[in-house]
Formats: sequence, C-alpha cells, structure tokens
Amino acid sequence: MIRRNGAWCWVVLAGLVGLVCCAWMTAAEWKSGKVWPEPKVIDPGDATRPPSDAIVLFDGKDLSQWEGGDQWIVKDGYAISAKTSITTKQAFGSCQLHVEWAAPEKVEGEGQGRGNSGVYLMNNYEVQILDSYNNTTYYDGQCGAIYKQHPPLVNACRKPGQWQTYDILFEAPQFDKSGKLKRPGYLTVLHNGVVVQNHAEIEGTTAWDRPPAYTAHPDKLPLQLQFHGNPVRFRNIWIREL
Ligand code: MG
Repeated sequence: MIRRNGAWCWVVLAGLVGLVCCAWMTAAEWKSGKVWPEPKVIDPGDATRPPSDAIVLFDGKDLSQWEGGDQWIVKDGYAISAKTSITTKQAFGSCQLHVEWAAPEKVEGEGQGRGNSGVYLMNNYEVQILDSYNNTTYYDGQCGAIYKQHPPLVNACRKPGQWQTYDILFEAPQFDKSGKLKRPGYLTVLHNGVVVQNHAEIEGTTAWDRPPAYTAHPDKLPLQLQFHGNPVRFRNIWIREL
C-alpha cells in the first residue's frame, strides 16, 4: 500500500513539473516598446587616462583652459593654487567631474585654515576641499561637505600630501522663464571612491556669510577651483557633460 502511494506521488510530481515547464515555454518576453538610440561606444579609460569623451581641463601641462590659470604654479605634472581662484573658460551645466588634489604635506593652520580649496560647480555651489585628516571643524564645512548645507556622510580623507580623488555627479538646478526655481540642483560625490554625498539636494549658493538661496542663472556657467590661501595641488581634471 505504502509503495503504491509512493508511485502516485511521483506521478503527481512529474505532472506538476510538466505544467511548470509548459508555462515557462509558452511565456512571452516583455519588452518596453520604447525606441532607444544606441548608447555611444566610448573608451572608458583607466586610472591614468580619462574616458575618451571627456573634456580634459588639466592634464598636468598647462592651465590654458582656465581664467586666472596663469596665476597658479604648474610644475612636475600638477598645479598649485595661488593668488586667485580660477574658472574654466568654457561653461558647464550638469556634469560628471573628476578632480585629483592634495592638501599641503607640511601641516600648517587648523580648522578652515588647513588645505582649504573647493570645487565650485557653476561658480556657485561648493564641494569643500579641506585637509580634514585629524583636523576638526564645523561638519558642514569639512572635506566633502556641500559647504554649509550637507556634511559628508563619512570622513574619507587621506593624509596631508597624499593624492585624493573627487568624482562628482552634478545635476544643475533649473529655473523657469520668470526666474523661479523649477527643480533644485543635486550632488553626488565620491571621495577617494567612497560616497560622501548621495544625491544631496543643493539648497542654493554656498556662501560663508549668508544662508543658501537660489538666484536664477544660465543653464551653463564656468567651473571654479578656489584659492583660499593654502597651496593645494591639483592634477588630472576632466569633465563629461551630461
Ligand atoms: Mg573651500
């Protein structure tokens, strides 16, 4: 009797497997129906080469693509900030930006006075550069902060003098014809490969002496690298417009 029940179990099981197989074989693949253009093929580059479709803003040789670039010192494949902030001659909106930088090896000053520089998207929105290695300051002003708006999620700073990377995804704010904010800007920042800003909403300009506020501006504006009194080094800067 037991043996006969066992046989029935096998028959039922085989039937179920057959049904599942039939259902799988007759299911149709779902496709969105949207007609997409083929994504452009690019060479992604590597640690030493930018992607093939990037605009190289500094390759270690000269700062000819920057207003004020002649005020900075270029040597040994890097640039040292000096005298003035510099801005790109070309204007950019939403973008992917790669910047390598190093705070001075010789530690001088403290808080905001140590290795201070900054990447200003559209000349208005600063991702702070600071030597925040064993150097405490207000958290929304430390390295990787969207200045006075969002502290970094973690402090991923390397030691002073060591090269560090910023990989920044920037979505430009949008304004309507009357100048009213339609959509705020957003920033995602990877510091040394670590996410320190995750699609953080930009609340407006990142000033030192006033709260953030938006003022309507064109769709594209120059990118700025800040001079804040400290000789911060830069190399390998490239941008991709999005
Ligand atoms: Mg700064």
